[in-house]
Amino acid sequence: MSTAAIPFLSFGSQHDPIREQVLAAVAEVYDSHWYILGDAVRCFEAEYACYSGTTHCVGVGNGLDALYLSLKTLGIGQGDEVLVPSNTYIATWLAVSMTGARPVPVEPDASTYNLNPALLTAALTPRTRAILPVHLYGQACLMGPILSFAQRHNLWVVEDNAQAHGATWQGKPTGSFGHLNATSFYPGKNLGALGDAGAVTTDSAEWAQQLQLLRNYGSRQKYHNEIAGVNSRLDELQAAVLRVKLPYLAEWTAQRQQIASWYHAYLSDVPELILPVTANDSTHVFHLYVVRSSRREALQQHLAMQGIGTLIHYPVPPHMQPAYATLGYHPGDFPIAEELAATALSLPLWPGLTEQQVKRVSEVIRGFLLE
Ligand SMILES: *Cc1c(COP(=O)(O)O)cnc(C)c1O
Repeated sequence: MSTAAIPFLSFGSQHDPIREQVLAAVAEVYDSHWYILGDAVRCFEAEYACYSGTTHCVGVGNGLDALYLSLKTLGIGQGDEVLVPSNTYIATWLAVSMTGARPVPVEPDASTYNLNPALLTAALTPRTRAILPVHLYGQACLMGPILSFAQRHNLWVVEDNAQAHGATWQGKPTGSFGHLNATSFYPGKNLGALGDAGAVTTDSAEWAQQLQLLRNYGSRQKYHNEIAGVNSRLDELQAAVLRVKLPYLAEWTAQRQQIASWYHAYLSDVPELILPVTANDSTHVFHLYVVRSSRREALQQHLAMQGIGTLIHYPVPPHMQPAYATLGYHPGDFPIAEELAATALSLPLWPGLTEQQVKRVSEVIRGFLLE
């Protein structure tokens, strides 16, 4: 079997076949001489809203801004609390603290790693204003129980759909459940731009309008500023690239799911290894294929020596980051998040990865853990 290196991520088989198409779309923007909030942004917003099953989409500069501006639109700020997963990329928490509100961590289900709806009640206070579920690694959260909890307690719901483009819960797409839903098109996401990009989806025309103001200096008419906004517009060139890529997303997602099932077939009998579990009613679009091992560091090193790239998502949970020292949390406060941070390892998974390559990664893992 080939022992060629297997990178953690490779864009080749996604980007090489559509090179001409992408460059033609870029050239079209170039020649249009219209570079900010033009036809490409407008068309992509319409197409991505349709894809998400919502009536509106507002393109913004990146995923963090998509989250932050969503919370601003709902009026969240100083003195408010927002329920967030204890195990997520720090952007989810940063969006909350950027508004002046406090992120309040809730532990995940220990097998799916997504927000555990049964633990929401314990985190609730009179200051709680919103829940921010994250469809982590590409698996849809249990949106039914989360939405009914929110309704019972009069809370806003903002989905963080940065990792789960195309996932569903009970057949309905992620990015369509919350009052507002944020996503990222960072290059490595399932739908990625060639730089920073993000979007908010919603069924509310009023909130969509507010977001259009917020992302563009609070201005509808040039040099007339209705509110104190920011500059966070979806770039016209990135929108043109995303328009080319969106129609391929279903095929790329199918490939991700195929790769995950190969890993499952080759690794499910390794007792020391915990594989991803998908909840009933949820689909998983495998932004990441995260396994867990108590010998994670040694396993990662062994794979690296065989030329196999892996990453850790994420090595330090937000409550243990120096950035959040002021919140006053201690080791042991969120044991599931801490256990995940200590044991998680993301294996190579990208459209184009072959069964032979998956087999090789699996054999190297088996050789190490079963020796
Ligand atoms: C990538 C990501 C973000 C932030 O997206 P950017 O476009 O990098 O700002 C937010 N939340 C999650 C869960 C992410 O994976």
